Amino acid sequence: MSDIQTVGVVGAGTMGSGIAHVFARAGFKVLLCDVEQRFLDRALAQIRTNLGREAAKGKFPETEIEPALGRITPIVDREALASAEFVVEAASERFELKSEIFRSLDRILPKTAILASNTSSISITKLAAQTNRPTQVIGMHFFNPVPVMALVEIVRGMATSDVTFGAVQELSMKLGKTPVEVNDAPGFVSNRVLMPLINEAAFAVMEGVATAEAVDQVFKLGMAHPMGPLTLADFIGLDVCVDIMRVLVEGYGDPKYRPCPLLVRMADAGWLGRKSGRGFYKY
Ligand code: NAD
Repeated sequence: MSDIQTVGVVGAGTMGSGIAHVFARAGFKVLLCDVEQRFLDRALAQIRTNLGREAAKGKFPETEIEPALGRITPIVDREALASAEFVVEAASERFELKSEIFRSLDRILPKTAILASNTSSISITKLAAQTNRPTQVIGMHFFNPVPVMALVEIVRGMATSDVTFGAVQELSMKLGKTPVEVNDAPGFVSNRVLMPLINEAAFAVMEGVATAEAVDQVFKLGMAHPMGPLTLADFIGLDVCVDIMRVLVEGYGDPKYRPCPLLVRMADAGWLGRKSGRGFYKY
């Protein structure tokens, strides 16, 4: 049984703020770290709004909002993570950045602490190799929006120990999530299966087989998907989809993962989906 009470979250963007939210809501003390105070202010404002939304829906007592926010301490100095027994890294998706963060966390954190990454596509085994505690490094892959989505894909690196896996499984359940165990491989399970679906949907549009609307209707009405693959691609970001296809094609060396040229062209044009106002749809 792990007795983790203080957790660190590195990166306070879309995912880091959601991760801090669910840990604080579950009663953990959270040290939320980013490189500038304004990112932390933005994250705390977002968490306040989202907790308020949960309270309005009756999912969380209104009187618990301030105490939950009070459990989150924003920090810009990474050294303040020295008291954390567990850290989830949710910084930008770049290997050099994450490996620098893992090396320094390895130095700062207690020897017993577990280091997890929320990466969507970077090898957990490689991140673990940046540290002197590879048995205590693991993937804890949350889904967006974190307070809403039930899944945590727990990714075992080559060296991850059973004790580490068990501790993260238990933590996920304390957050009210359902953990699913997978091994480290490009795209894990989620993106290895989802991204080729999105990519193939883009090929269908590029080849004039159907419009984006028609492709999405097929999946919504025929397969009971809550949103079609191209609506989902716009939500994720077309640049992110292309990047993940590149990770798959490189990681497996199999041309079946080659990114659809239409997807690449749209990303190059800055048509990134919802975040830029235009993707397969206009927003
Ligand atoms: P984001 O751009 O919203 O946030 C990244 C944050 O990291 C930014 O606030 C940035 O300032 C911060 N950061 C950068 N360098 C840092 C450093 N040295 N120390 C501390 N903070 C630093 O990105 P995001 O969408 O939240 O993604 C974060 C991670 O989660 C990525 O690894 C991504 O692959 C993964 N992920 C994203 C999603 C998604 O749907 N967005 C889903 C699952 C996993």
